[in-house]
Amino acid sequence: MRFVFLLLFFIHFAVKAQDTVYARTIIKQLTSKKCFGRGYLKNGLDEAKKIILKELKQTKAIPYFENNSYLQPFTQSVNVFKTKCNVTLNNKILKLGVDFIPSPDCPTVIGKFNLTQKDSLTYFSNSNNISVVLNLRKKLTYSVSNKQGLVAEIDLNKEHFKEIPNNIELNIHSSVLPNFLSNNIVCKIKGTSFTDSLIVFSAHYDHLGGIGKSVYFPGANDNASGVSFLLNLIKYYSLNPPEYTTVFIFFAGEEAGLLGSKHFVEHQKQHLSKIKFLINLDLLGTGNEGIMVVNGSVFEKEFNLLTQINSSNNYLNAIKKRGKAANSDHYWFTEAGVPAFFVYTLGGVQAYHDVFDIEKTLPLTEYVDVFKLITSFVSLL
Ligand SMILES: [Zn+2]
Repeated sequence: MRFVFLLLFFIHFAVKAQDTVYARTIIKQLTSKKCFGRGYLKNGLDEAKKIILKELKQTKAIPYFENNSYLQPFTQSVNVFKTKCNVTLNNKILKLGVDFIPSPDCPTVIGKFNLTQKDSLTYFSNSNNISVVLNLRKKLTYSVSNKQGLVAEIDLNKEHFKEIPNNIELNIHSSVLPNFLSNNIVCKIKGTSFTDSLIVFSAHYDHLGGIGKSVYFPGANDNASGVSFLLNLIKYYSLNPPEYTTVFIFFAGEEAGLLGSKHFVEHQKQHLSKIKFLINLDLLGTGNEGIMVVNGSVFEKEFNLLTQINSSNNYLNAIKKRGKAANSDHYWFTEAGVPAFFVYTLGGVQAYHDVFDIEKTLPLTEYVDVFKLITSFVSLL
């Protein structure tokens, strides 16, 4: 007990301010227009993949797969808005991403429609063989759909439009890409003592992509922050070789329904029992209100270790726990019986799944403390 206590208290790590400097250079690249929201238009996901692979080449991480590849390809279908996505309301042109967004499954719709009020937050039109629905929202939140619906739904930011909606003109072109190619990126660093037992870190590098020719979702917090964290971990373990072989997975397809992690779990079944513990990292850009640990109430022993390290070192204000949740890539591992935590930071910026999730306003408040906490935790598992 005393021994553990001393370890908890005296382990020091070479974690410095330059880790957040490095994090910012990565987050800037991943949120640039070139990556176009790391999704399904303009080769955005592929550009992000190139950035990650380029960084990996400068570390001691080696390809995970037996064919000496970092990549695990899979295909998915996705509804995209390649060209026009224009909306005019009461003859006023609305700004895409700021005043309105289409629902991710919106079909192609061109025409002008008179609106009828359904309730205080919904207007609709059923004319011209297509149903149009206008939802008044406090905040616009986008996601990804693998198919088109039958209704053209538009979300309007009600803070930006105070008039009663009378008529709406839509010029929206969408199409389903049936076989979009995505890649998980997986690498490992060999353990110094235990090579048959694995520690796994994961973070998804995809985001929502873009809509039309110029609007995209940068996803700085979600999850360029987690990708930078994984790359920082790889740099760290390249200099400080881990006892256990450590695997790092950059998942694709998370925003489209945890597709990359599902694919990995389904195709690596024979190796899952080797995983001693998995930590999934998503939304690591804040932390002034601490962190949330999904599965914290499932793996109590590990959760107690985490909180012990935290209170001995005064890292974070709070470590909160919750039970199982299908809210990120740890989920399929949990379902397959792999012990796992999903860690995300709490507090700070409110931008989420919108065009405002940008690098400039991402504070990285507790980035270094979370890093110290997690590396310390893993070393004591
Ligand atoms: Zn995410």
